[in-house]
Amino acid sequence: MFPAEFINEMRDSLGPERAERVLSALAGEPAVSVRVNPRKLTLVALRAHFGTLAGDVVLWASDEAFYLNDRPSFTLDPLFHAGAYYVQEASSMYVGQLFERAKATLGKEALRVLDLCAAPGGKTTQLLSHLDDASLLVANEVVPSRATILAENVARWGCSNVAVTSSDPAAFASFRGFFDIAVVDAPCSGEGMFRKDERAVAEWSPDTVRLCAARQRRILADFWPSLAPGGFLIYSTCTFNRFEDEENVDWIVRELGAACREMRHFYPGEDRGEGFFAALLQKEDGR
Ligand code: SAM
Repeated sequence: MFPAEFINEMRDSLGPERAERVLSALAGEPAVSVRVNPRKLTLVALRAHFGTLAGDVVLWASDEAFYLNDRPSFTLDPLFHAGAYYVQEASSMYVGQLFERAKATLGKEALRVLDLCAAPGGKTTQLLSHLDDASLLVANEVVPSRATILAENVARWGCSNVAVTSSDPAAFASFRGFFDIAVVDAPCSGEGMFRKDERAVAEWSPDTVRLCAARQRRILADFWPSLAPGGFLIYSTCTFNRFEDEENVDWIVRELGAACREMRHFYPGEDRGEGFFAALLQKEDGR
C-alpha cells in the first residue's frame, strides 16, 4: 500500500518496531478534532454544542481544542459557518504552544506576525486566537484560488488585525526586519497525511521528497530578510523524512543564521493526530 522506499526510510529513521507501529496506525482511521474561536464561544459552550460527540481534550492545546468521537456533517452546522470553531488536525495545533513560547521570550506588546504559507487557514485562525488586537498578522498564500478560501476563513473568524495577501515569499524580502514571528508551514511531501489523503501516497517518491526539500529552502531563504534579528521562526511540515525536517532545520541554522530552540515530531500510533513536524528557531542578531 505504501511505497517500498518510504517504508525503508521509516525503518531506517525509527527502527523496525517503532516504524511498524507508525505504519499500521497510518492504515487506520484519522481522529477528528475542533478548535474553539474564543472570541465567539467558550470551550465549555462548544463542548455542550457537540454533546456526546465531544471527547478528550487535545493534550498540547487543552485550553482550546478537543477530539470528536465521530465526524458530524460540519456543513450542516450554523456554528461552523459562523466561525465559532475550526476543524483542525490535532498534531498541527502544536504550533500554538511554540507561538506562546516565542511570545513569552520576546515579551513585547503589539507583535508583527507573518504566516507565509497560510491557506486554508488552520494556523492563521489559531495564531489570531493567540494574538491581541494591538498586534498584526499578515496571512499570505501564494496560490490565488487558495488565498480566496483563506480570506473566507479569516473573515469567518472575525478579527480585524489581519491582512490576507497572495504574494510569492520573495516579495517579503524588502520588509527588512519587519516581523517579530514568522510561521512557515511549508508545502511538503505529506507523508504524515497518508491516511487522510490518498493523493499524497500516489504522488510520493524519493524525487518528490528532494524537490520539496529544495523548494522549502527557497521559500525560507526568500522571506528570511523580513524576520527581525532575535525574532522567531516556526517551521513546520506534515511529513516525517529528515530531508524536509531535521536537515532543513540544520540548514536554517547554518546558512540563514539561527538557533534551534525546540523541535518535535508527531507520529500516528504514538500521538493522537496525523504526522507533523515543528521547530522553533530564533534568528541570530546581525543576520
Ligand atoms: N498553514 C496552512 C494551514 O494551517 O491551513 C496549510 C499550509 S499547506 C501545508 C502549504 C501551503 O503552501 C499551501 O497552501 C500551498 O499552496 C502553499 N505553497 C505552495 N507552493 C508554495 C511556494 N512556492 N511558496 C509559498 N507557498 C507555497
